[in-house]
Amino acid sequence: MEERTTGGRLEGPARRPPTRRTLDAIYRALLSVHGHQQWWPTASEDPEEQRFEICLGAILTQNTSWRGAAAALVNLREAGVTTPEAILDLPQDVLADLVRPSGHFNVKARKVQAFCEAVMADGDGSVDVLLEGDADEVRSRLLEIWGIGPETADAMTLYAGRKPTFVVDAYAYRIFERLGTPPGPRKYDSYRTFLLDRIGPDVTLLNEWHALLVRHGQQVCLKTYPRCAECPLLRRCDFGREEMGGPAR
Ligand code: SF4
Repeated sequence: MEERTTGGRLEGPARRPPTRRTLDAIYRALLSVHGHQQWWPTASEDPEEQRFEICLGAILTQNTSWRGAAAALVNLREAGVTTPEAILDLPQDVLADLVRPSGHFNVKARKVQAFCEAVMADGDGSVDVLLEGDADEVRSRLLEIWGIGPETADAMTLYAGRKPTFVVDAYAYRIFERLGTPPGPRKYDSYRTFLLDRIGPDVTLLNEWHALLVRHGQQVCLKTYPRCAECPLLRRCDFGREEMGGPAR
């Protein structure tokens, strides 16, 4: 569904996909304002536990803020439930109570347990085995697990598996559409394929791209009242220029 914004203008129709040079300029502008984002935040110190925690976080943050997901992860940690086996040993209603801060907690509990079942069945109990292979293999494997869609699979593939993929989310759609440079129709795979192809397979860069778009969407390019006057992208943004009373390109 198209999104109506403060200016009454509808965002949507594809106009001109960004060139590599445009993407580079957007990235540098966002980085200059927000800095390196150091994603993905984890509390565990053991590398494999970190990867498992990232995967749980990717499920828990579906349709909710990171704050809610982080609070659910703290609950799991404080309850000593940090392994797939421990999570599967819990009755689903007990797990649901622990992940309650992440919202939709009954469904989230089922999804977390479905993921843990896959770790046990397909990964011999190791999340690292589940994340073995190239990005397409890992992504396909994850997409077969109940409760994991493209955005979650890409977040796991990129941040836990450290394989090259682009994580598309509502912030990416909003920012590229407002700039007037949507990579294509508002479809997950068209954005992902276009951006991955232009940005390339540098995992650190892909990590930073998604994190910066999230940060910018949460703090500056807000859904209802975007803070265009302080946005480093204003000069190149059709929507922002119109909001600020200047001519759109
Ligand atoms: S200028 Fe405004 S609409 Fe454009 S990207 Fe920045 S905050 Fe968003």
